[in-house]
Amino acid sequence: MIRQHLRFDIDEIKRQVRPYDFYSKEQSINRFGYSSRGWLTAGLCPFHEDSSIGSFKIHEESGAYICFSCGIKGGDVIDFLQNKYNLSFKEAIAKLKDEWRIV
Ligand SMILES: [Zn+2]
Repeated sequence: MIRQHLRFDIDEIKRQVRPYDFYSKEQSINRFGYSSRGWLTAGLCPFHEDSSIGSFKIHEESGAYICFSCGIKGGDVIDFLQNKYNLSFKEAIAKLKDEWRIV
């Protein structure tokens, strides 16, 4: 039952939290530039001391992210929160639900 709830939460998060909006909120500098195949330049990388805007990219549809300077990458916004704030999977889900008012 608990697993089913988690599955539901994940589906709702993917349905309601648009990666573009999520990263706009998370990133202190928002300089989005469009590139090919849905990858957007998202400004400074939050995972290392970054000074070259353009190394951190996110995928518009999936929320996947990658930094071409430090090499960190992940598959979605949940994964991003886990990495950035050192959260467990469940904690990241709870944070997203809270911040995006998903019930
Ligand atoms: Zn980086």
